[in-house]
Amino acid sequence: SLPIENYLPIEHACWTAGQSAPYLHLARTFDLVEREKGKIKTTAILCNMFRSLLALSPDDVLPAVYLCTNKISPDHENIELNIGGSLVVSALEEALGSSKSKIHEMYKTYGDLGDVAQECRQNQMLLAPPRALSIRDVFSTLRKLSAISGSGSTGRRKVLVLHLIRSCREMEMKFLVRTLVRNLRIGVMMKTILPALAHSVVIDGKYSKSPVLSLEGIKLQLQELSTEVAEAYNVIPNLDLLIPSLLREGAAFSASSLEMVPGTPIPPMLARITNGLTQSLKLFHGRAFTCEYKYDGQRAQIHRSNDGSVQIFSRQMKESTSRFPDLVNMIKELCSIESSFILDAEVVGIDRKKGNKLMSFQELSSRERGSKHSSIAIQNIKVDICVFVFDIMFCNGQRLLNCPLRQRRKYIHDLFQEKPGHFELAQQLTVEADEASVDNSTTLDRMNTFFKMACQSSCEGIMLKTLDVDAGYSASKRCDSWLKVKRDYVEGLGDSLDLVPIGAWYGNGRKAGWFSPFLMACYNPEYEEFQSVCRVMSGFSDEFYKELLFICLRSLVKMSLKGEILFVSTLVYCF
Ligand code: ATP
Repeated sequence: SLPIENYLPIEHACWTAGQSAPYLHLARTFDLVEREKGKIKTTAILCNMFRSLLALSPDDVLPAVYLCTNKISPDHENIELNIGGSLVVSALEEALGSSKSKIHEMYKTYGDLGDVAQECRQNQMLLAPPRALSIRDVFSTLRKLSAISGSGSTGRRKVLVLHLIRSCREMEMKFLVRTLVRNLRIGVMMKTILPALAHSVVIDGKYSKSPVLSLEGIKLQLQELSTEVAEAYNVIPNLDLLIPSLLREGAAFSASSLEMVPGTPIPPMLARITNGLTQSLKLFHGRAFTCEYKYDGQRAQIHRSNDGSVQIFSRQMKESTSRFPDLVNMIKELCSIESSFILDAEVVGIDRKKGNKLMSFQELSSRERGSKHSSIAIQNIKVDICVFVFDIMFCNGQRLLNCPLRQRRKYIHDLFQEKPGHFELAQQLTVEADEASVDNSTTLDRMNTFFKMACQSSCEGIMLKTLDVDAGYSASKRCDSWLKVKRDYVEGLGDSLDLVPIGAWYGNGRKAGWFSPFLMACYNPEYEEFQSVCRVMSGFSDEFYKELLFICLRSLVKMSLKGEILFVSTLVYCF
């Protein structure tokens, strides 16, 4: 928990209650955050900014959080700002009177367009002070920018950008320009911003659970509310839903009270790898579980709203409704009753002419994609699909994440009529708690037979899922309550390939500073060359990455000394 002493009195509150807060308030906060490296101080600075918004203009909290995260909408809505660096440079040229070549020259030195713009702005003589920008002005202009399309759109975008740039005061220019080029560079992410907001809610007496709290009491509430808010965002990553609910409920907010709404995808639950049936049975010892076919298709989260509309989201939570008009029709046809729900399923290509034979993922991938605004035409569909439902997370206003899987499956059975080859429940085998033991040879035999049937049906293997104990739907988590046994991992069942690494990319996130993924190639004796096959990016230990980096760097030094290309041979050596 954070030391309460870090919470200084509200600073920079330079507007009257009820007005929208000036953008300058946010820009000053960004400036402080940019200079401050420590997470505790950064959280406190953001918290103070939110406290002043809560006190004077709570309606600014949502746009302020979006601006802090450099987003303008929830990710799944896929709304782009639609402006490029060249438009911003051209607007800067017009507004600040600096030539394009000078801006480019300065950019080479600063490496950041926001810093360049700020420098140019400081050297500019202003005839009249600009009209103050508010947080809401900036945010609504960004939303307007994203909505502009059609002929003359570049000109209309430039008018809006010019308006923003001409209104900048103090250090607003730097952060506004960075926002426009989608690179805010203040070094904070959602996992700092949301706790800061939660802290402001606790500290601001109006929102806290009890008006008089001891220091210890406040610290506890800070911690509790931060956890609740982070958990809520993990499950429902939509600030438009989260923030109004947090402001309404204050410190009493809990993740489970945040309402799920069809149309906002839930980050999918993921499975842990096991190397065979015996290992997975050991892990589930004494607990009832289900085995299901692990279909080789594309994950589909199917949302149906009260008004009957259907949306489909991919594993990455991108909307893919336009790719599956046949699935949308199927859902509409099969669910005559007025119900809203969110289902988890796998869409698989199917050959109806060959007795509903399941196709590979690659064959399904050849299906057209459709666009953001129009679906592929049903008559043009070349690959038919069957949808295999395996979970339900929401049904008729009820959040089912905490219900055990056995109960969630009952909801699926009660709601849906299967239509073979079109809409089916995942094939499953139940193992009850008293049968779940490696010493029980009947159980292992049953699982083995089920696994073989799955492989013969062109599935990747099977999934094992606890039914009663620890059997909730853990959105966004790779959990021990879902295990996967793939035929590739089971000795003797998978094919292996002899591949050679021929290159690598710089890693991101946890792998920043290392190489990942690697580009792998297969030797083609006919052409006497290595031809690229795929990238590999998981299954290696941190030690492997560190060692590899060291060896690569060492050979790069040798390479520059000798002028030889050693990279390929070095990687081969490492593998
Ligand atoms: P993989 O490459 O093994 O599919 P992954 O990281 O995409 O891995 P995992 O959670 O490891 O995802 O494996 C589950 C995936 O298997 C799901 O994302 C889903 O697309 C697919 N799948 C197929 N059948 C099922 C099923 N019955 N239950 C859950 N997931 C299933």
